[in-house]
Amino acid sequence: MMSALEQALLARLAATEAQSIAFLQSLLRAPTPNPPGDTRPAATLVLNALRDAGFDPKVISPHPEMPNIIARFDAPAPGRHLVLNGHIDTFPADASEWSRSPYSGDVVDGRIHGRGACDMKGGLASLTLAFLHLHLHALRTELRGSLTYTAVSDEETFGPWGARYLFEHHRELMLGDCLLSGEPSSPSCIRFGEKSPYWVAITIRTKGAHGAYTHASGSATKIAGRVVRALETLKHLPTRAPDNLLAMFRDPGIAAQVDEGCGIGHAAAIPEITLSLGRISGGLKMNMVPGECRIEVDLRLPIGLTKEEVRPHVARLMADFPEASWEEISSPEHMPNWSDPDGEMMQILRRTVRDDGRKPPVPVITLGTTDTRLWRFAGVPAYVYGHTPETMAAADENIEASEFLHVLRVHTLAAARYLMAGA
Ligand SMILES: [Zn+2]
Repeated sequence: MMSALEQALLARLAATEAQSIAFLQSLLRAPTPNPPGDTRPAATLVLNALRDAGFDPKVISPHPEMPNIIARFDAPAPGRHLVLNGHIDTFPADASEWSRSPYSGDVVDGRIHGRGACDMKGGLASLTLAFLHLHLHALRTELRGSLTYTAVSDEETFGPWGARYLFEHHRELMLGDCLLSGEPSSPSCIRFGEKSPYWVAITIRTKGAHGAYTHASGSATKIAGRVVRALETLKHLPTRAPDNLLAMFRDPGIAAQVDEGCGIGHAAAIPEITLSLGRISGGLKMNMVPGECRIEVDLRLPIGLTKEEVRPHVARLMADFPEASWEEISSPEHMPNWSDPDGEMMQILRRTVRDDGRKPPVPVITLGTTDTRLWRFAGVPAYVYGHTPETMAAADENIEASEFLHVLRVHTLAAARYLMAGA
């Protein structure tokens, strides 16, 4: 049974669908690729929308081209504090790989096109509109507590000028009782945690020799190959994740729905250390035995393993390669993080998606990294519901218009339900 507020919100969303899509199109037509990370074109549109609704948003720009925007309203009755978060920057786009301009904002056959459509201008538009709808005076009186809206820059490169800066310098503005993010998740899944990068650079040095004199020196490049194979055995390290998480990832029904939403193979990658050989450089000339090789290995740690636990295993494996030296090059702050998979916002989101006529989403761990980690590190439960990541960071990025309107309804109603429930 929907409350009067919920019905009013849904009616308003139904009456403004064309404007909602037009707002997303305008964001897509305002390029914000990172690098270089200049988000001012789209930030201006967000600021205009907030100011038109009577807000005086805070603009915090530690880097002049990378504004961060914060707005907040307090409902008349006390209650809990929900924070909404999205990022304004996008991956870059090579126009030659696209079949239309990456910044067209075209709607064709029910799909909205443009760099950032799923990561994450779709989610950002949705959170912005949800915030504004909830703020409307007549409706606001039925809510309790506070709603904060944050739109940040410098996310795609995990740079220092976005959410990280805000947490370091304006922490009190960022914290709340719960965080809702609109990063891609697919409507089949709700993201409640993240794996963590653990990057290792290895340099191998040998004497080197003429290419015909392989007996005279070890080959730095061949040794690099053996190092990578050795590091791949890390995948079998046991994890010590909470039982309810491990059980969830072993459930074939949940795994099937995760793969359906996030792509085949996603579920299997959740509990394992994965390894990507991100960069390799070595050898001077075709006919020389290489005397030096450097590799950069991108390991991703699952929930239940810390880098402190993995480090001695890397050291043990590397001890077999006296020609090699190694160092960690990932940021020390990174570690796997998660919120309660049975938490209140998880349940609200599941119920709200079901009420919108779709299959209830399943909880999933993000393989990559997002700003939501910063809230989890601060002890704030953080959940992600957003678009299908199928074309994320790819050419011809696009989302279904109907999915955008669905995510907008879910963000709006889930936020309302969280604030209505908080006594
Ligand atoms: Zn993103």
